[in-house]
Parts: sequence; structure tokens; C-alpha cells
Amino acid sequence: MKVIILAGGKGTRIASVARDIPKPMIPVAGKPVLEWQIELARRYGCRDFLLMTGYLGDCIESYFGDGSRWGVHIDYYREPEPLGTAGALQRVRERLEEEFWVFYGDTVMDFDMEAMLAFHHAHHADATLFLHPNGHPYDSDLVRIGEDSLVTAFLPKPRPEGEAQRNLVNAALYILRKDCLDYLNGGKADFGRDIFAPMLSDGKRIAGYVSAEYIKDMGTPERWEAVGKDILSGKVARLNRRNPRPCIFLDRDGVLNREVNLLSRPEQLELIPGAAQAVRAINQSGYLAVVVTNQPQIARNLCSIEELRGIHDRLETLLGTEGAYLDAIYYCPHHPDKGYPEERPEYKIDCDCRKPKPGMLLQAARDLHIDLSASYMIGDSPRDVGAGEAAGVKQSFQIETNRPGALQELVELLLSA
Ligand SMILES: [Zn+2]
Repeated sequence: MKVIILAGGKGTRIASVARDIPKPMIPVAGKPVLEWQIELARRYGCRDFLLMTGYLGDCIESYFGDGSRWGVHIDYYREPEPLGTAGALQRVRERLEEEFWVFYGDTVMDFDMEAMLAFHHAHHADATLFLHPNGHPYDSDLVRIGEDSLVTAFLPKPRPEGEAQRNLVNAALYILRKDCLDYLNGGKADFGRDIFAPMLSDGKRIAGYVSAEYIKDMGTPERWEAVGKDILSGKVARLNRRNPRPCIFLDRDGVLNREVNLLSRPEQLELIPGAAQAVRAINQSGYLAVVVTNQPQIARNLCSIEELRGIHDRLETLLGTEGAYLDAIYYCPHHPDKGYPEERPEYKIDCDCRKPKPGMLLQAARDLHIDLSASYMIGDSPRDVGAGEAAGVKQSFQIETNRPGALQELVELLLSA
């Protein structure tokens, strides 16, 4: 499949690092960002590249030539004038096949391209967007997806202060079908505003591929330095989904947020002091942070799935304000004991996911390729410990319910060990 790389970036914000070369040519850990991208795609069998160049495009062309030095074929399109991130694509339409990748030439990334492509096809999507949580959702453009992983809304910034939203950010990496370009009208265009938003209103299928793999832009001197270090330390490659990752599984109530009797409304949710710091430390460590929580309130009909989602949006928003994020949240809506008058019978089952059963941990391990034997479970009840042990994690811990600092102390200890 062909890879289109948007390589027209001027890099004004990063001019102190390198002058007079286009942003995608700025070396990171010894090689232009563009070269890292071409090598990544080549590893997944891509041999055909189309580089959309602009500012100082000849510098890119003279470095890569026809691509034969990399064993690939590279074509170019030089934008006569800047046409926004998407605008130039319609000028090369006849050079595109039915489906193609779109990379931004200033992102450092390593991800399992085969897995994302399989997801795109499994969802019969017109477009698939790579999405991930980040440490600053409040000033990022967010995307909302449904249970079926299809995008239901784009939530560009600025948004109302304090509004609870899931922490899911568009990383600017796409698989597109060619007819997505029908939305372009010849002029300057932007993917979000001019392609994805109208596609959504037309009922097209835009899928959100949520991943914990490494993808970061290097648009400022600080970020350039950070991504360079991450390449050299092996972090960028290590986070590729093909490599199993360790995880710290966290119970929710009493561990992250204050346990109240049957929490069932978003405004009841309050973080325990130190919880966000603990999650942020996990985020920075290379461990995944995954919540596994029993929510029998659903079965007892004290809270709907929609309300539970609102509670989790608030949890993610509160963590996000402190620079922390969860890689995933798994919940068990079931409860085995029948006999409450208001109960919802479809959830009154003896399931495999209610802790101390290990179902949620095992599902997460499959979804996120987690190495359970290198992972930890932290909860505040014997059920949590039981689930961790049944799943075969390295060690499980029970901390004191609602105690400020309890999670932070344990996480810092584990990460320093
Ligand atoms: Zn369950």
C-alpha cells in the first residue's frame, strides 16, 4: 500500500535546532525523521512512497532521490503554494490507489502497521484514525468513539472548561479510502475541518484505532530533544504493539477515586490525593496503566452504561488536568445474585470478568499485548488480589481504601525497584 508523507512543513518553531532545512529533514537520533518513517513502512512491506513537499523541497529530493538506496520507490509532488494539510492530495489523486496511508513528516513513531490496517478492514472503514490518550487533553483536539470504535464526534479545542471527555487524541496518522478526497474542492484544506467533519455528517464510517504505541511530533526544540532520547533509549521501538508490555492494573474505587457507597453519578467522583501523580509516574515508566473495576451498579440498575461512561469521562478528565492518562478502562457490569426488584436480568449472570475472576485482565492482555508475568495488580480488596493472582501477574497488592498517598507510595516503590 502506498504511503503519502506530508513533508511540506516549514518548522518555524524548531528553527533554533536546524535552519534552512525543512522540518522532516531535521535529524533525530542521527537520521531525518522522514528516513525513520520510510524505514518503518518498509519493514511492513510498503515499497511505494509519495512525498508531498513544499518549503525547500529540493533538499528532500536530493537526499532520497528515487528511493533505491532504501529499496523503495519514491515519487514527489511539490506544492506550488501551501494548500493546508490535505489540500495538495487532490492534485495527486490519479497517482493514488483505492486505499493509502497518510503520515505527517514531523512525527516520530513506531507502530504495528499491519495491526492498524487489519483493524481498518475489519471495521469496513472509509477512514481510520490513530488515536491515543495524552498528558494534556485539555489543550488537544479530542475525538469521541462509540463501543463499535466508530467516531461519533470531533471535539476541537477550545471546549467549555471542566467539561468531562474521554482522553482520546487524534495523533495525525491515517488510512484513507480514495473517495475521502471527494470532499476537497480545489483550494486550501485541512483534514479535520474539510474531510473528516463533513464525512461524519454524511454518515461515512470513520474508525478510531486506539493504541498505546509511540507517536509524537517533534515540532519544538524541547520535543525534538525528548523524541531523540526516546529513540536512543529504545523506547520508541519497544512500544510497538508486537512487543509485549508490562502493565500496572489498577482498581478504581478506593484506589484512584474516593470510594463512596455505590458511586453512580459523575459529580460524585473525586480523585484521592496522589492518585494522578501515581498514574503519571506509570505513564512515564513504560508500563501501561489499565483500570479493571467491578461495577455491579449496572446490574442493579443504579447506573446505566451511558452514566458509567460519563463517570469514566470525568475520571479521565480529572487525571488529564494533572498530566496523567489511562491506557484503558475495563469494567464488569455483572452481578451473580438475583432477587433485587429493580435489577437488569441480562447482567445478572455468573460472568468471567467479575473480580476475583481474571477475565478483565486477560482481555486487556489480549487487546494491548500485555506481558502478565511482568505486570502488577493494585487494589483495595482481596478480590483485586485474587484477580491478579488468577491472571498470573508478577505480584498483587492490597492498599488501604481511600488513603491519600497510598497508591503513589506503592507505585513509586515498584517503579524504583
Ligand atoms: Zn462480568
